[in-house]
Amino acid sequence: MKLEEFRNFFFDLDGTIWRWDETVDGAQDMLKTLRDAEKNVYFHTDNTLLSRKGYARRLEKKGIQATEEEIITSGYVTAEILSDREILKVYAVGEQGLTEELTETGIKITEDADHAVLGLDRKINYQKMEKLRKRISEGHKLFNCSSENLFRRENSKLHQGAIAESLSQFGDVKLTGKPSEAYRKVFKNYFSYFPGKSLFVGDRLADIETGNRLGMKTAAVLTGDITEKKINQADEDAVPDYALTSLDKVRRRIP
Ligand SMILES: [Mg+2]
Repeated sequence: MKLEEFRNFFFDLDGTIWRWDETVDGAQDMLKTLRDAEKNVYFHTDNTLLSRKGYARRLEKKGIQATEEEIITSGYVTAEILSDREILKVYAVGEQGLTEELTETGIKITEDADHAVLGLDRKINYQKMEKLRKRISEGHKLFNCSSENLFRRENSKLHQGAIAESLSQFGDVKLTGKPSEAYRKVFKNYFSYFPGKSLFVGDRLADIETGNRLGMKTAAVLTGDITEKKINQADEDAVPDYALTSLDKVRRRIP
């Protein structure tokens, strides 16, 4: 892996930079080394618990330099997709990061809406599920911010994938997170970069497929969801160019 050929580095957050509470070993040093070498560092996440602003603050608190403009969340992407389709009100299930991105884009969150948005919601319940089910059963759309199956913390896991999966039997669930085409379109408008000079790093095959389809080189880290077995069994478009056991390995290769 020749790091000097890259100008831009796009890092996933959950499972790549941190396991929510704890920063992955070597991540902080590696990011600082990249900044010192005047590389562009960006972050992408399909975790909608926080907004871009919220993630910038959280990264700073962990000693990682980041601005709102360097971060893209699927909450932001979903807001852009809705606004593009002139859907200006939705019923939303999710937390602060999702509602912030939607309302900042001018999308009203109300029970009086046909279409719905689903983000990670740690207080999801039968009532909220029924409101989502009813809408898609009636032919309206459900925009799902993430194809992530598990929200992992150091000592717990939330099976968020099961929610979207169970709703998909009732109607149209449209993925707005990685690796969907809708996501990639918003991503390309948000960042300016040369694909040939860019490395996309993540811990899920959905990350790798996204990076590959954006025309970038891709690196899988084995600190989250991806295992060597998953790489061996992956579809051709989700095979990474590089697999790294840790981000520390990247740092040592920076000239
Ligand atoms: Mg991840």
